Amino acid sequence: MPVLALLDAIQKLTSKWFNKHRNAIGSATKTLTPSTKAILRANFTLSQRLKASQLDAFEYTLYGDGNDEVVNLSDRSCSCRVFQIEKITCAHAIAAIYGTKLDLYDFCSPYYSSQMWALSYADTIYIRCPHCK
Ligand SMILES: [Zn+2]
Repeated sequence: MPVLALLDAIQKLTSKWFNKHRNAIGSATKTLTPSTKAILRANFTLSQRLKASQLDAFEYTLYGDGNDEVVNLSDRSCSCRVFQIEKITCAHAIAAIYGTKLDLYDFCSPYYSSQMWALSYADTIYIRCPHCK
């Protein structure tokens, strides 16, 4: 019996979390999640110290923070490796994108979109299985 009570408590808590996040998302559109935007804001602040030098149509060299980094916007990579590993634009990529007409949000993985966030909590967790009595 204590195991069943524990499972019931876990179901209730998970359902409460899902509702909390579902309500937080609200009418989210295709923009990025708040935590992703916070990361981008921090990276944007860091990017303000960088200078970009365009190498070709897609590649840039970034300097100004002690390390020279190379960003390739075509394959979404940076020699610091943050861009391709975390799938969020690093400070170097932001500095490269800054002078262009490209949208910074387009370079982040769609997994960081509010739409994906909403889908994570779309399912309902029933306190009691509706098929069992
Ligand atoms: Zn980088």
